[in-house]
Amino acid sequence: MDKSNGLRVILFPLPLQGCINPMIQLAKILHSRGFSITVIHTRFNAPKASSHPLFTFLQIQDALSETETSTHDVTLLLTLLNRSCESPFRECLTKLLQSADSKTGEEKQRNCSLIHDSGWIFTQPIAKSLNLPRLVLNTYKVSSFRDHFVLPQLRREMYLPLQDSEQDDDPVQEFPPLLKKDLIQILDKETEILDSYTKMILETTKASSGLIFVSSCEELDQDSLSQAREDFQVPIFTIGPSHSYFPGSSSSLFTVDDTCIPWLDKQEDKSVIYVSFGSITTISEAEFMEIAWGLRNSNQPFLWVVRVDSVVHGTERIDEQLHEKGKIVNWAPQQEVLKHRAIGGFLTHNGWNSTVESVFEGVPMICLPFEWDQLLNARFVTDVWMVGLHLEGRIERNVIEGVIRRLFSEAEGKAIRERMELLKEKVRRSVKPKGSSYRSLQHLIDYISSF
Ligand code: UDP
Repeated sequence: MDKSNGLRVILFPLPLQGCINPMIQLAKILHSRGFSITVIHTRFNAPKASSHPLFTFLQIQDALSETETSTHDVTLLLTLLNRSCESPFRECLTKLLQSADSKTGEEKQRNCSLIHDSGWIFTQPIAKSLNLPRLVLNTYKVSSFRDHFVLPQLRREMYLPLQDSEQDDDPVQEFPPLLKKDLIQILDKETEILDSYTKMILETTKASSGLIFVSSCEELDQDSLSQAREDFQVPIFTIGPSHSYFPGSSSSLFTVDDTCIPWLDKQEDKSVIYVSFGSITTISEAEFMEIAWGLRNSNQPFLWVVRVDSVVHGTERIDEQLHEKGKIVNWAPQQEVLKHRAIGGFLTHNGWNSTVESVFEGVPMICLPFEWDQLLNARFVTDVWMVGLHLEGRIERNVIEGVIRRLFSEAEGKAIRERMELLKEKVRRSVKPKGSSYRSLQHLIDYISSF
């Protein structure tokens, strides 16, 4: 029996697709356990309030221009958002807590808690001044979040450049299972601005009352949980995969094209390769062409998500040829797609949500990571769990064709599928009664209820 009756949780997601989905899932979980839910959100990428009539939505003005919000530089976007949202958030939260009449107001404040995305770095003094318990929600893999400790240190120690390119495939001792060639790619892009941003994330997290990993579970993060507990010194809850509690429910910022489902219905079992690089990644037109020809030449039917802004300079020129062999949509109902009996593989950028959703449905992956945490997730997929194949960044038609054939037609692919089935079962058990995530969620609920 939950002790949460009538307690209010205030949620504050980052306005990115990969952050909104898990936060809304958490809202649904907590609401189903008796909490009342208030979501404070930005004007930019506002969640669709009408899809969640049982929650209260409060919008704050982020004051960002269209040019600023359309940047593909995520660090810049997050820096701008943090800069412009601090005062509106403070105002909104203060008003919210004072909104009840003075008699019940005191009571309400005592019974509230705040859960915000780890990417909001100004929340600590605000919550402290309002005497509001605060937890941090993280949408990454636990080991990825630990990179906030490791990467700045590696940069300070001048880990790079490597002296000898033969070392490229060696593991990074301080950060397994990352390889040195992955680290080159990460450190190459990361900047001092990012280091100071991640430093603030760590400080904000360490000063919180707890850390929630909403999209991961002990089974996927055994390697790093005890270290993370030592690093952060706050209670850690791994309650994922969160999408498993309310499957199919949408908090999509894009218009979903459902026509891919009847198209999938016409395909054979485990024959289709699903291709998606998430909500942010962009590729060049040349890369688009290589992927297109790789898919076409593999002779495997494919379903490809090509967001309107995802290919620099557009894709109109080749659409027609591609439609012969597959289907292209602007945005897919991904969880439904991965669940479909026709899907046999997922060519992915290895965003953590996509990776977990794929594991949860037992779909083997072809890994094409582009950024920091994606590179680490991909190594877990191919080198630790061995449930996928890695393109090693080679966006070339022959390589893509070859890797699809290996996954779909060769003994290697069969072995990968078998391992994926085992991993899927393990992760599915975690959210069932007595499973690790199920128990962790109960601890979280008891913990919030005790505030
Ligand atoms: N997604 C979707 N439809 C698409 C592509 C992606 O619903 O066509 C969802 C996907 O299910 C996942 C999220 O968008 O929950 C992407 O998150 P992820 O962490 O994988 O990548 P990001 O977008 O943060 O790079």
